[in-house]
Amino acid sequence: MAAFIRTANKQGNAWSMPGAYYSPGRGFYDLARAPGNHGLTIMPLVRYAQKTGNADALMLAERYANHVLEVSDSFRFDDAGNFIGFGDESLHVHSTAATAAGLVLLGMELKRASFVERGRAIYEYGLKTIGNNFGFLPEANPNAPVNRARRPMLRQTTCENCCITDYIETAIYLAQAGYPECWAEAERYLRNHLLESQMTTVSWVKSVGGADMQARMLGGFTARSSPNRMYDLYHPSGPIGCCNAAGVRALHLAWLHGLERRGGAVYVHLLFDHATPFASVESGLPSRGRLRITMKTAGDLWVRIPEWARHTAAYDPPRLAATASWRGPYQRFAQLQRGQTVTLTFPLARARQEWHQPAMKITYRTEWLGDTIVSISPRGNCFSLYERQYLSG
Ligand SMILES: [Zn+2]
Repeated sequence: MAAFIRTANKQGNAWSMPGAYYSPGRGFYDLARAPGNHGLTIMPLVRYAQKTGNADALMLAERYANHVLEVSDSFRFDDAGNFIGFGDESLHVHSTAATAAGLVLLGMELKRASFVERGRAIYEYGLKTIGNNFGFLPEANPNAPVNRARRPMLRQTTCENCCITDYIETAIYLAQAGYPECWAEAERYLRNHLLESQMTTVSWVKSVGGADMQARMLGGFTARSSPNRMYDLYHPSGPIGCCNAAGVRALHLAWLHGLERRGGAVYVHLLFDHATPFASVESGLPSRGRLRITMKTAGDLWVRIPEWARHTAAYDPPRLAATASWRGPYQRFAQLQRGQTVTLTFPLARARQEWHQPAMKITYRTEWLGDTIVSISPRGNCFSLYERQYLSG
């Protein structure tokens, strides 16, 4: 922390890293104008401060945030604070999206709504314009002004798994910061492009030399996926170290935050199987609209119900329906006993959607079962994704 502080470029309360790279010959340098590199560091600094109480880490996070927002050309806002576009220092989407997550987390930690709202504006009006609602977010930013002015590059057509994780993380922090509908968005990114980007079969992997690469690849994550293919064939692809780690981190974020005990109540935010000392969730999703929650402590239970299921959900025991009440996207069941079980059932909504990717000039058509895509068209011509019609029964 002392070295970060000593080497920072300091402009009043706006600080930046002297460069993302260092060599004895060149000193600190960047390969491109990229203050997003220190935007990327805001989130880990806040988490480090939360775990250790290190006040310098929080101070540094705040000053990096000041620089990214007020000095760098990463994000452009009007005088009212509305996001009006990306700047030319937001080319690397992983840095850009991780900055959004960091700003929201920093705002919550400092109780500073302005940071939360800047992070939210970047997510809502920036990231969502280049990504889609199933978690695909390109590696290079097609909407940075310098990129708009030239031919699309291949990295605008493929998704770095790091970006999926940032997208999920930003949605989770926004949900925690007072926008609970963002849980549904995090769940869609998780169920779709994150889980589809994980390598669950490795029979096709060949080993060269002594290392058994099949065992090493299993469970890893792709680094450059298309919306319909695990790998892109036109530029170096396959797994990359950062994306493997990021994919695992996204799974951990879902596990850490999806089921919560707060103020004596249990909150089911994400509808995945989960067991904790205070409650367990058994989920029938994605193939069955059924959730069974067992309370291991007495208290209120809040269950987030997907929007498409809110008018059709039924409860067991049925008498719970009379006492349940809505709070935003949650059904609240008051004063449950330890050991009590609540079962919710709902039909899975079927829907078709379209998403046009300008860089490839392709319109992707998706079929959904609840929050899960079960097929995509055009179909990927190798390592095809979303071959999940079997879920439809
Ligand atoms: Zn990566």
